[in-house]
Amino acid sequence: MSHAFILRDETILCRQTPHGWWPMQVELPQSDIDNPALNTHDTHSTQRAYQVGRVTLFESLAPTHWLPNDDSRQNKNSLTAFESETANTFTTNAFTSKATLAMTYDYAIANHVTLPKILENAELESRGLTSNNKEKNTLGNDECAFIAYRLLITQLPFALSDQLSQAIQLLRWQADTQFCSRCAAPVVHANHGERAMVCPVCRLRQYPRVQPCIITAITRPNPQTGTMQILLAHHHRYGQQKTPQQALQYGLIAGFVEVGESLEHAVVREVAEEVNISLKDIRYVSSQPWPFPSNLMLGFRAAYAGGDIVIQEDELSHADFFDLTNLPKIPFKGSIAYALIAQIAHEQGISL
Ligand SMILES: [Zn+2]
Repeated sequence: MSHAFILRDETILCRQTPHGWWPMQVELPQSDIDNPALNTHDTHSTQRAYQVGRVTLFESLAPTHWLPNDDSRQNKNSLTAFESETANTFTTNAFTSKATLAMTYDYAIANHVTLPKILENAELESRGLTSNNKEKNTLGNDECAFIAYRLLITQLPFALSDQLSQAIQLLRWQADTQFCSRCAAPVVHANHGERAMVCPVCRLRQYPRVQPCIITAITRPNPQTGTMQILLAHHHRYGQQKTPQQALQYGLIAGFVEVGESLEHAVVREVAEEVNISLKDIRYVSSQPWPFPSNLMLGFRAAYAGGDIVIQEDELSHADFFDLTNLPKIPFKGSIAYALIAQIAHEQGISL
């Protein structure tokens, strides 16, 4: 029996559980599994037609490999308790089963995959289900909905959100890689399940691309009180205050790694560009795949070394050091920015 996650752009088909939204693993018909054009071990696979909308996920990210407490992002979910409860609730979708595939909604429809009744946004809103509330029995057993990845990562175990992140990125990569970027001929899948597109004319191989992006939490002792402070910035893209009551969103300094740079160099350059200060004690903490569009966020910590804050005005509207006991609105739980800030707060005996 083979199961797949169903995606539509950056949303994932989910059921509602007592814990919140949970991605479904839809059972696939035998015809899909047996389709030789889809068999990644087919020795003639370089000849097969291009198929968009269905990908095999890496075995290493499958739920059978999930381990509780093995996550450097300090996920506090109790996976074992969650696992047993969820498995009891939805035996057909027990998340202990291997989710090795992901496909787009369009692909599923075209290939006659049986889907449950899908509630659209308007219906979700009318039933008060747009937020990730935990009320029970608000969806019927045969009902489900497409839920945004950004909403899901605030409550799913990291291993599962990483798997969904991979699904989003691979499906998008497939859709965006249908022609050779050198000679413009239509590409075919590589042999033997290798995740690459090959040009049958010039043999150029195109692989999924990951864009490294650094994000840095910068700390210093408050010059007056000596308590630990963290540098936070308000980006224009977070939006402006619409009412005086609305809290402005702040975040950490982040940016793409340039060609030829080391990660540490990227940290120093981005911070100098955006807030004009210098750093010391730069160290790597942890990473997070981020499928918007295909980034690998590399989380760093650093200590303030000197300089006055001068913001890069085309990116930021404000930046300053904030006491950990008096933080503005920060990025949501589940993001690496939140994890870095929470780690620093925790070291100071402060829980967010
Ligand atoms: Zn080519």
